[in-house]
Amino acid sequence: MRMTDQRRVIARVIEQAVDHPDVEELHRRAAAIDRRISISTVYRTVKLFEDSGIIERHDFRDGRSRYETVSEDHHDHLIDLRSGRVIEFRSTDIEKLQEFVARELGYRLVDHRLELYGVPLDDEKS
Ligand SMILES: [Zn+2]
Repeated sequence: MRMTDQRRVIARVIEQAVDHPDVEELHRRAAAIDRRISISTVYRTVKLFEDSGIIERHDFRDGRSRYETVSEDHHDHLIDLRSGRVIEFRSTDIEKLQEFVARELGYRLVDHRLELYGVPLDDEKS
């Protein structure tokens, strides 16, 4: 892939993000660094990065695609339905259970995605 300056800026913005931003948010951050970067460039670039396996797209059911860099250490997501906050977690038990289920079905697990949707326990008391 040809790495233009604009693509490099967008790559850096995604890499530095810890909050799974959508295209509009990525555009806002990229344009703050280089204001010539248009939203359509961001759209095209994230598509390219996604196709190349550099970044991962998530759909957390709010109608927006969110992006994050593909990393070595796997994690799953819990989405706070009140605030929209995305919390990353990893559970050894869940990982084991998923492998077990796949094996029971006659498969070797190579990948999975898990999203939990919740509301804060504190909210329900009030
Ligand atoms: Zn994540």
